Amino acid sequence: MKALIVEKDDDGKTSASVQQIGESRLPEGDVTVQVEYSTVNYKDGLCIGTGGGLVRNYPHVPGIDFAGTVEHSSDDRYSAGDKVVLTGWRVGEAHWGGYAEKASVKADWLVPLPNGLTTRQAMAVGTAGFTAMLAVIALEDHGLTPDGPEPVLVTGASGGVGSVATAILANLGYKVAAVTGRPDNADYLKDLGANQIVARDELNETTKRPLESENWSGCIDAVGGTMLARVLGQMRYGASVAAVGLAGGPQLPATVIPFLLRGVNLLGIDSVMQPYENRLRAWERIATDLAMEKLEAMIQPATLEDLPALGADILKGQVKGRVVVEI
Ligand code: NDP
Repeated sequence: MKALIVEKDDDGKTSASVQQIGESRLPEGDVTVQVEYSTVNYKDGLCIGTGGGLVRNYPHVPGIDFAGTVEHSSDDRYSAGDKVVLTGWRVGEAHWGGYAEKASVKADWLVPLPNGLTTRQAMAVGTAGFTAMLAVIALEDHGLTPDGPEPVLVTGASGGVGSVATAILANLGYKVAAVTGRPDNADYLKDLGANQIVARDELNETTKRPLESENWSGCIDAVGGTMLARVLGQMRYGASVAAVGLAGGPQLPATVIPFLLRGVNLLGIDSVMQPYENRLRAWERIATDLAMEKLEAMIQPATLEDLPALGADILKGQVKGRVVVEI
């Protein structure tokens, strides 16, 4: 079978190439899946490259998510022919992932492909889109409704999480303000449903003022760092920020003032270890709340051979929307 293999040499340098390998090299698992599609997330960029402290053993097959058809299963929940999706559980990091024609995984890690989605659409959503949906659900569970006077802010908007978050929020009737460092992407973001484009530089500068005017009803933040700190001070009274990513850095140079004086909530979003029931809930919501023509507009098709270059691009913040890798 064909797979993208990352190897590490004696000097600790990694290199990725497409190779033919025997199926006997597949790890042990309850379910063998014929992988049809995978995708490229920020974490994939790390795992295709240096490993980013995520990869345990080499040679390694990255790919933190995939969708495909069950070939055989020793677990009663799945049988040959079932369509399935996998995100998270450290697949593609600590375990072999989706950048191969077959994957062998634990049944607990899979979810059935939601009704109304193809395997290609599921990977156009991928971990990034699934996480965007988790963030929307978290904001709703903390009181966000579409009738708020201020827009919902989406940071890192042209990326995977940001693009899907923008499209879902707009489809649900929210006003969306999309933050981007790439002004050329303004039309793309407006087509996804953004009502307002905010230049990254406006929010990337630190301010000494812990509170500014109350601009946002909610926020889905893929960036972290200075931008998240700044946004906290601009939230409406009682509003919530879903912290999803760290594209701008892992630090949070903030004060606690927005929490104490405005009752702002900072909600952590993790997609990797989410319980099964939450996964089903999120995938069902994706199938109903994400307009498929918007998803189509985000797709950049790719093959296994394209992955080394795409992995480097996503780490530089140069990928727009969602890459769908046909395996
Ligand atoms: P992308 O690279 O597709 O998107 C990130 C976007 O952030 C870029 O497209 C860019 O958007 C913006 N950006 C990049 N660099 C900077 C910077 N230095 N300062 C400000 N903005 C920047 O990645 P994903 O959407 O796949 O992931 C986004 C983040 O979410 C990553 O940090 C990822 O690790 C994290 N993540 C977390 C998950 C979880 O479970 N919590 C799951 C999935 C992802 P623009 O050009 O429009 O400004």
